[in-house]
Amino acid sequence: MRFFIALVLLVTLLSTSCNFVTSTKTVTVEDKSIDSTKTYDIALVNNTKDPACGMPVTAGISDTAHYNGKVLGFCSTECKVSFKKDPAALIAAAELKK
Ligand SMILES: [Zn+2]
Repeated sequence: MRFFIALVLLVTLLSTSCNFVTSTKTVTVEDKSIDSTKTYDIALVNNTKDPACGMPVTAGISDTAHYNGKVLGFCSTECKVSFKKDPAALIAAAELKK
């Protein structure tokens, strides 16, 4: 009987630890989950300033764009649109993080 109890406990422990391992697989945030309706974390972008208007991204990012493998944050869609018209001229103003 004791053996049976020990076996049950062992099985319970094993299944609990299996569940634990499964639950530690955290969901990673992927770029495709980002849409224009959400606000962005400044940690997600590579620039410190909105290249179009010069506003610091810490003031708030409402849109982002990819440029040369970097993610750029913009205070508004209008700024993103004007950046996309001439990114080469404005990229220096983005003050990319090192
Ligand atoms: Zn702006």
